[in-house]
Amino acid sequence: MVSSNLESMINTARSILKNEIKHLPLVPSVALKLVELTADINVDFSDLSHIIETEPSLAIKILRNVNSPVYAISRKVTSIRRAVTILGYSTVRQLAIDLLFYDHLIKNKFSSRFDSLFFWQHCLFVALLSKKIAIALKHPNPDLIYTAGLIHDIGKIILETYGRLTYSDFISTIHNSENLIIEDERRFFGMSHSEIGYVFCKEWHLPESITAVIACHHNFPAENSPFAEFKTEIAIVSFANYVAWMQGLSSVKYQGNPVLQSSVLEAIQFELLDIDFLLRQVDQEMQHSREFYGIQFPSVTKLRAALVRTTVNLSQFGVPKESTPPAERLNKLASSLTVPHHSLNPKEFVPNTLEVIQTECGFDRCIMLAIDPKHRCLKATYCWPLASMPQNLHDFKIEIKDITGRLLQCLREKMSVIITQEMTSNRALLQQFGATECLIIPVLNHNRVIGLIYSDNINSKKPLTPVLIPEILPIANELGIALLNATQYERQKKSAQLDPLTQLFNKRMIEEHLTQVFTLDKVHLSKIAIGFIDIDKFKLFNDLCGHQVGDDVLKIVADILRSLTRPGDFIGRYGGEEFIFVLRNTDKAGAFGYAERIRCEIERRGKLMSQRFHEHALTASIGVAMYHPNYRTHLQMIDVADQSMYQAKKQGRNKVVLFTDIPEQQQN
Ligand code: GH3
Ligand code: MG
Ligand code: MG
Repeated sequence: MVSSNLESMINTARSILKNEIKHLPLVPSVALKLVELTADINVDFSDLSHIIETEPSLAIKILRNVNSPVYAISRKVTSIRRAVTILGYSTVRQLAIDLLFYDHLIKNKFSSRFDSLFFWQHCLFVALLSKKIAIALKHPNPDLIYTAGLIHDIGKIILETYGRLTYSDFISTIHNSENLIIEDERRFFGMSHSEIGYVFCKEWHLPESITAVIACHHNFPAENSPFAEFKTEIAIVSFANYVAWMQGLSSVKYQGNPVLQSSVLEAIQFELLDIDFLLRQVDQEMQHSREFYGIQFPSVTKLRAALVRTTVNLSQFGVPKESTPPAERLNKLASSLTVPHHSLNPKEFVPNTLEVIQTECGFDRCIMLAIDPKHRCLKATYCWPLASMPQNLHDFKIEIKDITGRLLQCLREKMSVIITQEMTSNRALLQQFGATECLIIPVLNHNRVIGLIYSDNINSKKPLTPVLIPEILPIANELGIALLNATQYERQKKSAQLDPLTQLFNKRMIEEHLTQVFTLDKVHLSKIAIGFIDIDKFKLFNDLCGHQVGDDVLKIVADILRSLTRPGDFIGRYGGEEFIFVLRNTDKAGAFGYAERIRCEIERRGKLMSQRFHEHALTASIGVAMYHPNYRTHLQMIDVADQSMYQAKKQGRNKVVLFTDIPEQQQN
C-alpha cells in the first residue's frame, strides 16, 4: 500500500462504498481536529479547551463525567479549562475523542450481526492496552497510540455504514473460515477493512503514524515499506489487538484464527513487558469506561495474563521439524484454548469447543451436559457432531439427587472420570447414551461445577484412556470462563435495554427499533403504526396514594401492554408515564382497534382497583399515527402520535385519537 497506488485504492474504495469518500459524514470535524492534535506533543492546552468548547454538547458531557464519582474530585469542575488543569491534558482529550467516536460511530448502530457495543469494547480495550504498552516502552506519545488503537478498525464501521455490501453481510458469509480475516474481506469486498480504513483516513488527512497503524495492523511492514518508519506504533497496536482477541474481545464475532507475527513481538520487545500488570490496569480502566458511557459492557472477568503469555510463547516456537512435540501441534493447542472465546453466544462457542475436543482427541462424539440450577438437574444441551445427538437425548435429564457412583464423585470432587459398564451404579446413564463407556470432564466456573463434557466412542468402540484428560482440561477451563462471560454479557445487555421498573424496552431501544423500522421497504413501512400512550392525571396517583402506588400503576399498564400485544409488535416505556407502541402489518382500523383495546383494559383494571387508588380513575389518552411517505424520519412520526395524544387529552382524556390527515411534507 504505497502512496503511488493510493489513487487506484481510492477508486476501488469508491466502487465498494455507496457514497463519495469525502462526503461520508462519519466523523465530525471536531474529532478530526482532536486526532490531529494528538500527533503534536507541543500543543498548548488552551487549544484543546478551545476546540472542545466549540462543541457545547461535548463540553457538557465531559464536565458531567469529570464530576462523576470515578474521578473523585472534591470541588465541582465547571469549565473545560479547569478540567484540563485538574485531570491533565491527556485524560480530557481522551474523554473527548472517545465520546465523539462513540456518539457518531457506535451509539445508534443496530444490527444483529454487527454488535456495535461488542465492537466498541474491542476498540476501547485495544486503545487502553496500546497506551499502557506505549508508556511501558517509553514511547514519546502514548496519546497518539491510544487514538490509533481506538480507530484501528474504523474500516469495519465504514463498510458497515456505507458499504454497498455491509460488514454484517460479510460476517454472515464467513462461518468457520480458516483464512486470515483480511484475505476473506478482500475476496468479499475487493479490499480489506484495513485498506478501506487507510484510504478513508488518508482523505481526512489524519497523522501518518495513525494511518500507518490502520493500514498495517494485520500485516507488519517490511523494512523497505514506506510504513516501516512507524514500526513501533504498528507493532504496539497489532499486539494489543491480538491480546484483545485472546481475551474474547474481538471486534466482531468472527471464527478465524488470531495471528501474531514474530516481527511484531521483536518490534515491541515483548520480554520487557509486565503483561500481568498491564492487564490489571486495563481491566480497571475498562471498569471506568463502563461508568463513563452509562452502558454495560460485557464484564470481562479477570483478564488472564497467563493465557496470553502461554499462547505468545507458543507462537514464538521455531519450527524444527523433528522437535517433539512439534510446534505445529503446540500452535494448534494454543488456538484450541481460544475457541471458547470466539463468541459470546453459547450456541456458537459450545458446539465449536466440543468440535475441537472431538477432533483433537479422536472421539466419536462429545456432548455438553449442563447443570440446570433452577430445576436441579443435568441436561444434554449441545452435541458434536451435531447429527450425533440421539433424539431421546434432547429430553435427557437426570435429577441431581438421583446421581450416584462415579458420576457423583465427578461432581463432588470436580474430577474427570471414565465410566464403564462394570460400574453398576452408572449403568443406566450409559444405556441412555447407548454407549459401553464414556469419559466425563467437569466444566468449572469459580470452582463450581456448571456442566460436564461427556465423550464416547460409540461407533468405533476404541477404548478411552485417562491420557487424554490433561489435553482436554485446559479447554474445559476456558469453556467455563466463556460460559460465565456469556451469562454476564446477556444479563448486562438485557439490563441495558430494559427499563428496570416495567421491564419494557427503554428509550434507547425504542430509538434503535424505530431507526431500524425506518430502513424497511415502502410496502412494509406503509403498514406501520406508532402510538403514544400517556396515563391521565398520573401525578395524582403519586400525590394521593404515594409513589409506591404510582410505580405499581406503571407496572400494571406495562403488563396490560404485554398481554395485548402481538409478538412481532414492539412496546416500550418512553419516559415517566408515557409508553410507545409500534405495530407492523396493520392499517388504520387495526391500529385504532388495538389502541381502543388497550384503553378499555386500562380503564377496566383501574375500576377493579379503585379502592387502592382512593377512587382516582386509572385511564390513559392515546395518540396514533399511521405511516405516510411524507414522514422522513421516525421522529416526525412520534411527534404526530404525541400531538394526537394531546388532542385526546384536550377532548377530555380516556380517548384514542388517530391522526388521519396527510402529514405536512418536511425537510428532514
Ligand atoms: P396528564 O393527564 O395531563 O398527562 O397529567 P399527568 O399528571 O399524568 O402528567 P404530568 O406530566 O404533569 O405528571 C407526570 C408525573 O409522573 C410527574 C412525575 O412525578 C411522575 N412520574 C414520572 N416517572 C415516575 C415513576 O417512575 N414513578 C412514579 N411513581 N411517578 C413517576
Ligand atoms: Mg406526560
Ligand atoms: Mg399523564
